[in-house]
Amino acid sequence: MTATPTKETIIGALRHVPGPDGQSDIVTLGLVSEIIVKDDGKVYFSLAVNPEIASGLEPMRKAAEDAAAKVEGVSSASVTLTAEQTGMNSSAASQNNGSGASAAAAPGAQEPSGLRGIAKVKTIIAVASGKGGVGKSTTAANLALAFAANGLRAGLLDADIYGPSMPRLLGLSGQQPEQADENTLLPMYAYNLPVMSMGFLVDEDTPMIWRGPMVQSALVQMMRDVAWGELDIMVVDMPPGTGDAQLTMAQQVPLAGAVIVSTPQDLALIDARKGLNMFKRVNVPLLGIIENMSYFLCPHCGGRTDIFSHGGGKVEADKLNVPFLGDIPLDIQIRETSDSGHPVVATEPLSPHTKAYRDIANAIWKSLSGGAQPSSPKIVMD
Ligand code: ADP
Repeated sequence: MTATPTKETIIGALRHVPGPDGQSDIVTLGLVSEIIVKDDGKVYFSLAVNPEIASGLEPMRKAAEDAAAKVEGVSSASVTLTAEQTGMNSSAASQNNGSGASAAAAPGAQEPSGLRGIAKVKTIIAVASGKGGVGKSTTAANLALAFAANGLRAGLLDADIYGPSMPRLLGLSGQQPEQADENTLLPMYAYNLPVMSMGFLVDEDTPMIWRGPMVQSALVQMMRDVAWGELDIMVVDMPPGTGDAQLTMAQQVPLAGAVIVSTPQDLALIDARKGLNMFKRVNVPLLGIIENMSYFLCPHCGGRTDIFSHGGGKVEADKLNVPFLGDIPLDIQIRETSDSGHPVVATEPLSPHTKAYRDIANAIWKSLSGGAQPSSPKIVMD
């Protein structure tokens, strides 16, 4: 019978892996994060490194992975490099506590010159919300498809490590991406849209135990170690709220801007404002607000009911001095298509909802490109 590996035995093995200085080992140097050992013998941890020399540290990462994989009982080891380094990189460390105040104080966190883009991806935007359940992921998926329908090469990254929903929304649940080569994954495709999500890579319950540094490195790998191909725009579906992951995104990639999804009642409340303020603090331009579930369209009579007084979104956006990008109704077709993995923009190209998403995508693209129109529209259907 195979012994269950313990963290101690793994740490013992890692003591033989030299650190970046080639002298002290990675454990002594304090680079090893918390080690997660799953029941099936899979081991996950990250190594905190100075981002400036990270590109040269692949051999160290691989050596750590090999050392852990050789420990008796370990079925596989997955090691990532993370930019966080307690004590050495105060900016990353302070951001990792998720507090807005520390983000504001983080030195150099938003130096545009220090940010590295994703190869061949021209523009990256975030879709965010102050809290969950407002339809952020539904909006992100339909927006990415709307950019594609408008003739752009679009991709979708599900950055919600703790609650990835893109596999379900795009009808890809249970499928796994293939490897392009040793270090690169191919994205999954839904309706011709390249998409990557933690939901493709781990069991649904696994991400819950991940800690800050691992979340960061998982995000970075999903951005950089995936063969996205040439993209005009990547839509990033953020986790709800204003914590680590949003800050990491802002810190790791040059976000061209952020879109906030909100319901009418939240707009008037604090949640949407928190989202706005977080992006302001990290100097990510706010592209605007989308009001979701804005009014009710009756599937029987087609009548429209303004459950929350109409126009509130626009008024609030004006008050907050943020562009209002448009509203999407609360509609059974949107709910059914999104929950069944057939997003409305991909499957109902002539629906008024598809038009609404495409108009919003157009407005976003215009503001990103200073008024330029994307190339001739095409309708994407599978
Ligand atoms: P979030 O990402 O903010 O948690 P989701 O996109 O998962 O929210 O949406 C939450 C629920 O609301 C889902 O069941 C989704 O189908 C539904 N939903 C989202 N937007 C709409 C809409 N405009 N009309 C009807 N249902 C919607």
